[in-house]
Amino acid sequence: MGSIDQTVHKLDCTLCNITEEQSVLEKGSGWRSFWNEGPEFSNFVVSWSKGGDLEPTILGAECKVCKKDALNSKRYGAL
Ligand SMILES: [Zn+2]
Repeated sequence: MGSIDQTVHKLDCTLCNITEEQSVLEKGSGWRSFWNEGPEFSNFVVSWSKGGDLEPTILGAECKVCKKDALNSKRYGAL
């Protein structure tokens, strides 16, 4: 029984006032679980670390409109 199986990543561009959330799922439970790859965002260009054994994390995120770095935060749970 895995309780944490989804992470929601939120990106925020304060200049353009754009916020977007995408979730990453963990498949399986217990000792044999693995993570999906990080999803694409429609408003941000995001580089992800590799999924698999480790939870993917956002290495960098840039707003597609203004090309500035976006703020990112994450939480556990559903979208
Ligand atoms: Zn922007």
